[in-house]
Amino acid sequence: MTTGWQIGDARITPIVEIVADCVIQAGMRDATPSRLLGIPWLRPDFATDAGEMKSVVQAFLIELGDTTVLVDTGVGNGKHRPGLPAWSGLDTEFLQRLAAHGVKPGDVDVVVSTHLHFDHVGWNTTALADGWTPTFTRARHLVTETEFGYWATLPQRETADDRAGFEDSVRPVLDAGLVDLVPDDHELRDGVRLVPTPGHTPGHVSVSVESAGRRAIISGDAIHHPCQIAHPEWNVHADFDPDLARRTRVELLGRCADSGSLLIGSHFPSPTAVLIARNGRGFTVQ
Ligand SMILES: [Zn+2]
Repeated sequence: MTTGWQIGDARITPIVEIVADCVIQAGMRDATPSRLLGIPWLRPDFATDAGEMKSVVQAFLIELGDTTVLVDTGVGNGKHRPGLPAWSGLDTEFLQRLAAHGVKPGDVDVVVSTHLHFDHVGWNTTALADGWTPTFTRARHLVTETEFGYWATLPQRETADDRAGFEDSVRPVLDAGLVDLVPDDHELRDGVRLVPTPGHTPGHVSVSVESAGRRAIISGDAIHHPCQIAHPEWNVHADFDPDLARRTRVELLGRCADSGSLLIGSHFPSPTAVLIARNGRGFTVQ
């Protein structure tokens, strides 16, 4: 299990919530076992010898100076998601894992949502007797204006679980006055900023960290699994705009390859971060 990365003065730490293997593979029609076995470097970290995908749901802690940032907040405990039983009614020790890194919920200054699918906003709220209540009570919760505007209409093309996620994990934080709507290139503080990566959802962003000449980018769902490094054209079923998602993925991988930026995959299992190299017209890992 990787314990994280030092990017100049910034420390990035993955906080794994659950193992998500078959859920992600089921959503990516092109990623059949035989095709995954055709990408040898995926094994053993990112795929099994049977061609089964390995993946996780996780959040990332960014600590820079006196600022504590949490990027995405997983599925959450006790959320009712009947469309995806494996991710419904969870009871994990996510907050204890965060505490093990010295961070209590009240210590988090900023929560960034790469997008508003329910597996990225769940821990925004916790069940109390009077309903879903903000977990990170001091944190400003950053959501891009485009992403918020899309979800505020509770779009019918999205799953009932994702619409429920907006209601039980985003709206209570909004009602508590803790949400800041920001542009998709917003700079949180020196060297930590949002990068627009639309396609999976309309206002999707990745998070770039640059310090002392070192760079990393936290993908969000612009890429779900390392197999899409070899095959950026493979989409997941949930992509809002499949063509835009593909173009965004190629652009993101190109940016990583050309800048030497570490790519930290939001659903990538340990070691979670890879360096990208161009490979003909495609990409591979270094
Ligand atoms: Zn996701």
